Amino acid sequence: MNDTFENLKKTLKKLPGFGLKSAETAALYLALENKDAARELARALADALENVTPCPECGGLSENGKPCAICSDAARMSSAICVVEKASDINAIEKSGSWRGRYHVIGGKLSPLKKITPEKLNINGLVEKIQRGGVTEIMLALSNDIEGEATCHYIQEKVAPYPGVTLTRIGFGLPSGSQLSYADSGTIKSAMKARRNF
Ligand SMILES: [Zn+2]
Repeated sequence: MNDTFENLKKTLKKLPGFGLKSAETAALYLALENKDAARELARALADALENVTPCPECGGLSENGKPCAICSDAARMSSAICVVEKASDINAIEKSGSWRGRYHVIGGKLSPLKKITPEKLNINGLVEKIQRGGVTEIMLALSNDIEGEATCHYIQEKVAPYPGVTLTRIGFGLPSGSQLSYADSGTIKSAMKARRNF
């Protein structure tokens, strides 16, 4: 067998959204059919590795350690923070155009099975933002599954000592267990609209 090719296929298959078939198609395309595209991809990856960094404020996508475009935008409400699991959730919500506040990426959800404890998530950073003052709403846009539920309850405990902060959670037209970042804009929009006190 061709080890180099197999290795490329295996590596691509680890990427989110890639299955065996799409990994094979992409590997053939890059390794054999279009080497220019492969070179372009290699350059873009090297550039991203070098320059893309998490936003120091929200944990979303940014460059060279600077605050992201959303956190730098004075027109965005800083009193309302939408809590998401991953930076890709921010992109999905932004595409739906249904949120004018800021974001906070916690970096996953609580899971005893995967050994994801509260210390591994950026929940303290959220509490620090509340302590700095000016925050009136924390909206939880976490997964609609058992782990997402447990994470919401944990955050609820942490936010409870601050009576000036209303905790809300997005309503779910989203199917149970589904990931926010895979939902379409219309679904996200109605889920955001149907948010309720948590
Ligand atoms: Zn940011």
